[in-house]
Amino acid sequence: MSGKSMVIIGAGLGGLATGCYARMNGYRTRIFEQHTAPGGVCTAWQRQGYTIDGDIEWLMGCQPGSRYYHLYQELGVIKDCRLLPLNEFCSFLDEKTGRSMAVTSDLDRLAAGMKAMAPIDGGAIEEFINGCRTMQGFTGVPQPEMVELFKKYNISIAEFARRIEDPFLRWSISNMNELPETPVTVLFFILGGMADRQYGLVEGGSLNFSLAVARRYQDLQGRSPTGRTLQRSWWKTTGRWASDWLTATSTGQT
Ligand SMILES: Cc1cc2nc3c(=O)[nH]c(=O)nc-3n(C[C@H](O)[C@H](O)[C@H](O)COP(=O)(O)OP(=O)(O)OC[C@H]3O[C@@H](n4cnc5c(N)ncnc54)[C@H](O)[C@@H]3O)c2cc1C
Repeated sequence: MSGKSMVIIGAGLGGLATGCYARMNGYRTRIFEQHTAPGGVCTAWQRQGYTIDGDIEWLMGCQPGSRYYHLYQELGVIKDCRLLPLNEFCSFLDEKTGRSMAVTSDLDRLAAGMKAMAPIDGGAIEEFINGCRTMQGFTGVPQPEMVELFKKYNISIAEFARRIEDPFLRWSISNMNELPETPVTVLFFILGGMADRQYGLVEGGSLNFSLAVARRYQDLQGRSPTGRTLQRSWWKTTGRWASDWLTATSTGQT
């Protein structure tokens, strides 16, 4: 093989995006995918009349001007998918008492709701909301006040939640992320970004997002994902694919 060429293993978002950018930069590309369809974990499927969406619950960088938005433009997502604003991150309900809380992108509303529910925790609620506000306007490079915030709150969500006296609010904050050991600054980051309208949903779900990038790859005349498994044994027994570059975006043993 002469010239610039690249073999890419895996047609998930990583492999498809690599393929697109390689094509934009003049590489000949070939993507190998073991599944019959592109998308990897960013997919959805039908079962008994339901659509099971396995992936995007919130997409970062949904506003023009953000670095991600620019990337989505280059990868064909903005042309083919409608991004919808994410107004609610999650909500909590205590079925025994009927108490509930919606974690909204409107930080004033969120603060007012928390304080009405747990007036005893006013101080911790202020800290929480201020943390979110400090992360607003994040463009990829942390501002000095954000660095200070990371230093000050070098604690997990669970640790922060222990400061809360009201049991329902404590439980709600502990469960805002699947892993309570996640740094609390991750919540500040997400809720600050939501307040900036930077987080959204993809109309039609995750598969639409993947197929948009796959179409972009095909429009750039890359070789389409082959539906063939590329494994060590396949390398050994079936032949050789020579290329200047090999990019493996697959997880696990390849
Ligand atoms: C449950 C879940 C929820 C998520 N939610 C969000 C979210 O809300 N927002 C967000 O931005 N991100 C989210 N993510 C993360 C995001 O979806 C992933 O980071 C991204 O899709 C991973 O893409 P990838 O190409 O790196 O990997 P994968 O999607 O894993 O793609 C790897 C591909 O390689 C293929 N492959 C593997 N081995 C071989 C082989 N030997 N030969 C050929 N092909 C092979 C696989 O079949 C697969 O298609 C979520 C992820 C998960 C799992």
